[in-house]
Amino acid sequence: MGGTSVSGSGPGSGDPRRRIPRTDHLLALSAVVDARKRLSEEALRGLISRAQDAARAGEIQPEDVERVIELEVAQSSALSLRGVINATGIVVHTNLGRAPLSDSAVRALASAAGYVDVEMDLATGKRSSRGAGARAALLEACPAAEDALIVNNGAAALLLAVTAFAGVGSGNGAGIGSRAREVIVSRGELVEIGAGFRLPDLMETTGARLREVGTTNRTHLDDYARVIGPESGCLLKVHPSNFRVHGFTAEAELPVLRRLADAHDLPLVVDLGSGLLHRDDVLPDEPDASSALAAGAHLVIASGDKLFGGPQAGLILGSRDMIQHLAKHPLARAVRSDKLTLAAIEATLRGGATPVHEALHADRDRLRARAEALATAVGGRVVAHDGRVGGGGAPGQPLPGWAVELPEALAEPLRLGDPAVLARVHRGACLLDPRCVPERDDARLVAVVQAALGAREPRA
Ligand SMILES: *Cc1c(COP(=O)(O)O)cnc(C)c1O
Repeated sequence: MGGTSVSGSGPGSGDPRRRIPRTDHLLALSAVVDARKRLSEEALRGLISRAQDAARAGEIQPEDVERVIELEVAQSSALSLRGVINATGIVVHTNLGRAPLSDSAVRALASAAGYVDVEMDLATGKRSSRGAGARAALLEACPAAEDALIVNNGAAALLLAVTAFAGVGSGNGAGIGSRAREVIVSRGELVEIGAGFRLPDLMETTGARLREVGTTNRTHLDDYARVIGPESGCLLKVHPSNFRVHGFTAEAELPVLRRLADAHDLPLVVDLGSGLLHRDDVLPDEPDASSALAAGAHLVIASGDKLFGGPQAGLILGSRDMIQHLAKHPLARAVRSDKLTLAAIEATLRGGATPVHEALHADRDRLRARAEALATAVGGRVVAHDGRVGGGGAPGQPLPGWAVELPEALAEPLRLGDPAVLARVHRGACLLDPRCVPERDDARLVAVVQAALGAREPRA
């Protein structure tokens, strides 16, 4: 459309478009001036011109342009991500950003946002090793590890380990040169981790050759022993964190694999996935870093934002020599974690129970009381409901609790609520499980459900 020209064949003097306020007038509105602290000039001008365009198109009255802009400015933020109340009962919800951070970790993010001594020793003024605080906290929390390295995410940790031990350039013995080597891995452990990403594809990008051994359901020590040799770069065990194989199954355990690895002077790397540092009785089948290291892993790899309960990160724990080898690899620089992550990891470890831990260990009676209070406020029926760990691990492990059952049609208005509420839609019902809802949000949850129910009266 051709701007605001009013000459010639343009709109005549009676045209309402002439009453649309000019940009400089709108930029001077006090609401707009105040918003300059939060929003960019570009964002504000965009918002103004959209309101003017709406008036030109006759969608709003010229007299309403100022009001519309004031309203939009009040609602705008620099961030398009919206907070969500997770009422699904799924603790590590991949589509909701996995682990919610603890209050300590959130405060750490804000503290680390400015200039921080992430790579400086303030006492001497000299450069120090990056992220020493996070590393120390990890080693305190997991004494079975000699050393720790934090990278961008679990996939990056695996990429770095496979590249350094078996990728192009990893060979160092005579006759191997800089050729890539083999990663020996069981056929039952070549997993797709979600959204079409497959660990074998990721590993092959390094040039390493996957040497698959055993079968989908059964792999024995002999299967590894038969192929191990001068072309081998490392032994890899991957925890199938999102599925379970039942029935006639077998796998080689870590202690025997470790003996095999040591006999050939090869690293034994275990990709745990979920990031539990210690055994958790609520998740009896979920592997943990301490046990895996004690059982023989040279290195374990895990995500920071699954059961560890922290920010997105890849944690590598174990042998000092191997961690140093990884830390010195050129790829380490490309996958290193930022100061915000390092701060949040340290605070996750030192700051008390994480929201993930609390959701996993929530008291059943307390969950029931909260579900009943919600049902009293909004109607619906309290039903037994199993929560889940979700994409973070422990597939198939139910977390028994309670939910409020409401009509399925409510799911959409809840999702569009403020804050958004994500319910579990199951068998024609909309289920609200308080397990992953911080108790301080219970009142907000009630308010959103009541708004979604519209004019419907709360149950007496
Ligand atoms: C989740 C997972 C990964 C990938 O970790 P990200 O942190 O998502 O990159 C790798 N391996 C296993 C076994 C996993 O469960």
